[in-house]
Amino acid sequence: QAQCAAPAMAEAAMAAPVPPDEDGDDCLPQYRHLLSPDLLAGQVAFITGGGSGIGFRIAEIFMRHGCRTVIASRNLQRVSEASKKLMAATGQQCLPLSMDVRQPQTIVAAVDEALKEFQRIDILINGAAGNFLCPASALSFNAFKTVIDIDTMGTFNTSKVLFEKYFRDHGGVIVNITATLSYRGQALQVHAGAAKAAIDAMTRHLAVEWGPNNIRVNSLAPGPITGTEGFRRLGGRFAERSAQFSVIPLQRAGNKTEIAHSALYLASPLSSYVTGTTLVVDGGSWLTSPNSFSALLGIASSSAK
Ligand code: NAP
Repeated sequence: QAQCAAPAMAEAAMAAPVPPDEDGDDCLPQYRHLLSPDLLAGQVAFITGGGSGIGFRIAEIFMRHGCRTVIASRNLQRVSEASKKLMAATGQQCLPLSMDVRQPQTIVAAVDEALKEFQRIDILINGAAGNFLCPASALSFNAFKTVIDIDTMGTFNTSKVLFEKYFRDHGGVIVNITATLSYRGQALQVHAGAAKAAIDAMTRHLAVEWGPNNIRVNSLAPGPITGTEGFRRLGGRFAERSAQFSVIPLQRAGNKTEIAHSALYLASPLSSYVTGTTLVVDGGSWLTSPNSFSALLGIASSSAK
């Protein structure tokens, strides 16, 4: 007769080892390749928001797989310092550039500069974003618009410039970093949830229109990820302390290396037949995490202190 038993914890832990990560915007002190170190050899990735958090770790992991990178955001000092760390840790080239994803002419200038330096761009990671917790009733018109401008418009602007400047004629891969916020109407997140849902729609539209140009377009939706600005601002530490992560199926937050590994899959030939989809990387979190408006208001005010 079939028996139903929960696996022993030790067994489960051995089955899914968690890759190590660093909390700040620093490179990993050591890295064990799970995939071939030349998976992205000869390629160039353009990463918006690559100077911090998830974007920084994506740049590092890509470079550890042979890729050269361009990391672009508004703060030139931030991306310049990040590029020094990335080059020292990986031995690959990294070009830091200043641009604002809300201003197409700054994107055009950055992409021109990147093409001048590397003569090619194979991968675009749209990671630039802004977010904060706020109930819809307290959200100003301008605050809502700003998040749409950076996340949604910024993703379209950068994708369109890359398409016109390079991908239309050479093909390419686009990975849009989104979120699971809209799946259940996450409280205090109407601005970011709406912005990211629009990007997931854009992923499908562009996958259809640009597929014939050999361009793959996918979204990657992280859950709560430690060592990031998002985690700090959105109450992640508070949730960790109050044991709220025990409701997540995998019982923990994720880390930046885990997101970078998923981005590596989507950007590499490993996913050569994958387009127009969203890869959720959240330990099952959106299925089971609390979404009580009043409880989350409490988390927001406690984590702001
Ligand atoms: P982060 O470190 O704050 O990254 C955001 C980046 O975007 C920064 O490097 C910022 O650099 C850049 N940026 C902001 N506005 C910009 C603009 N107008 N033009 C160009 N660059 C701009 O945050 P993160 O938490 O690692 O998040 C990275 C991505 O993952 C975001 O798309 C976020 O929505 C998504 N995500 C994160 C989590 C999480 O738990 N952390 C969960 C789900 C989804 P500058 O200030 O220099 O411009």
